[in-house]
Parts: sequence; structure tokens; C-alpha cells
Amino acid sequence: MHVYSTPLTTRFRGLDVREGVLVDGPAGWAEFSPFWEYDDAEAAAWWAATVEAAETGWPDPLRTHVPVNVTVPATGPEQAHAIVRASGGCRTAKVKVGERGQSIGDEIARLEAVRDALGPTGHVRIDANGAWDADTAVARLTRLDRAAGGLEYVEQPCPDVAGLAAVRRRTDVLVAADESIRRAEDPFAVVRAAAADIVVLKVQPLGGVRACLRLAEEVGLPVVVSSALESSVGLAAGLALAAALPALPYACGLATAQLLVHDVVPDPLLPVDGMLAVRRPAPDAACLDRTDARRLAPDRARAWIERVDRVRALSEGRTS
Ligand SMILES: [Mg+2]
Repeated sequence: MHVYSTPLTTRFRGLDVREGVLVDGPAGWAEFSPFWEYDDAEAAAWWAATVEAAETGWPDPLRTHVPVNVTVPATGPEQAHAIVRASGGCRTAKVKVGERGQSIGDEIARLEAVRDALGPTGHVRIDANGAWDADTAVARLTRLDRAAGGLEYVEQPCPDVAGLAAVRRRTDVLVAADESIRRAEDPFAVVRAAAADIVVLKVQPLGGVRACLRLAEEVGLPVVVSSALESSVGLAAGLALAAALPALPYACGLATAQLLVHDVVPDPLLPVDGMLAVRRPAPDAACLDRTDARRLAPDRARAWIERVDRVRALSEGRTS
């Protein structure tokens, strides 16, 4: 078991450093990297995905390449423009909005910069991470849709399913559900309430590639596979899901290796011409050494090992 730690190229999701555990199993390397605000019970789903990757592996791919989007954090317009231009040919950009302390003017400037960098044929989607109530979302979407030159969709404009449903009824912008699927007691509430046009699935929080394939079939809506900001070892599981889905109408949010200063593999999952080739890169000694949390942050490394012990015990019905 290896605990990795790497700085991020830009602050994201309130994080400056990404950490996690890598496990070398009979089926290949696997990642366990739940964010620290998730308790052990919630992290158990993440562990199930780790076990699947390490012990079983994934279903056969149906495609060799997966289109991906570049992710633009809540930065200023110049940096947003530069991120899109350096994205490895991504034709779709996902732009973070609804950041605390920022105005709609900041968001409009960012979206205009992203549209300029992508050109008229690119796709621009936004992710509000549940920042708005329905009225705010509807008011903002009119202006942000215009600034973006047309939005592909808005991801999680409101925190609750009723809010998503209201936004969907009251605007022409397509609505994608992310947190309402991934952190919900009942992911089907979104379907019953007709609250989304698209669902975002993430392998680790939803318990593995096969669990996601089942969920996709049951939900019956187009799927966008996204990462949880993993290293390329964890991203490979998302890629396996995207490659195994019967239909893949949208670019996936799997190009996030770009946000890591150091990856754990020598050949990270970075897009070429806006696509990731479907493959499963493995760490080497030099990459493991460069990201070794035991050396970089020994207290953090210990905390991760203890967390794995607790979550594994919980998953296996033992008490640690
Ligand atoms: Mg999201």
C-alpha cells in the first residue's frame, strides 16, 4: 500500500494538495481517495471501488477512446483562457460557477474567456455544485447562457432534487445531476421528480465500475463520467466505465490529471485531440518515490493507513 501526495496546479474544491492510497492487487493498481469530509461509512463505497479495481478488474471496453472536457476552476478570465488553450485539444469545457465570494460579473468574464478560447464550435457546461436556490439559478442561467454563447448544460444548480426539477421546468438549459445522485440516499429521486436530463457518475463514490453500469441502466438517462480528482490510477477506473457504457453522448470529466503537479504514473492519462485513449497506466518506482506521503507528510500517511484499516473493517463487518 502506497500513500501518495501531490500539490495541485490550482486550488480546486478547497484543496491545494491531493492525497490518496494506492493498492497493488492481482487485477492491477487501484486507488482509494475519499475526500476527508466523508466519514468512514460514506468512504466504504469508495473502498468497494478500490477492491473491484484491485481484485476483479473491469468489464471489457466498447470503445478505444473517450472524449473529455477540460475543467476550469473559479479562476480569473486570463487563467481560464490559458487553461482551455493548454487542455490537449478538448472541445468541451466545464466551468466552475457559484463560488463563494465571486459575483456574476466574475462568472460572465470567465465564461466569455472560455468561449473565446474554445471557438464557436466548442461546448461549454457549468457546474454550480448546488450553490443556488431555484430562483437565483433561473435568473443567473439566462445571463450565463448568453455569456457562454449557449450552455451545453448546468450541473447541480441547486442542492436539492426539488430545486433541480424547478430549474429544469423554468429554463431551456439542460440540467445534470451530480451530488443528487452521488451523495443521495436515493439516486432515483432525481428520476421520479424528472429533475435531470443527464446524470454525472463517479466510480469511487458510487462503489465501482459495475455498480455505475447498473445504476446507469436503471436511471435510463445519458451519463457523463467524471473523476473525483484522482491520480491516473483512479482515473483509469472512470475511463473503464466510460468505455463500457452502451452510449456516450457527452464528453467526460476525466481530464483532471492536468490539475496534479505530480502523477503516480510515468504516462499520465492526459488528453490528445480532446480524447483519452482507453488504457490502465501503472506506477513506477520513480513516480511512487516523488509522491511518497511517508516522506512528504508522515502524519498524513499514517492518517490514511488508519483510515483504510477502519473503512476496510467496516466494509467487512468487523470493528477495527
Ligand atoms: Mg459536479
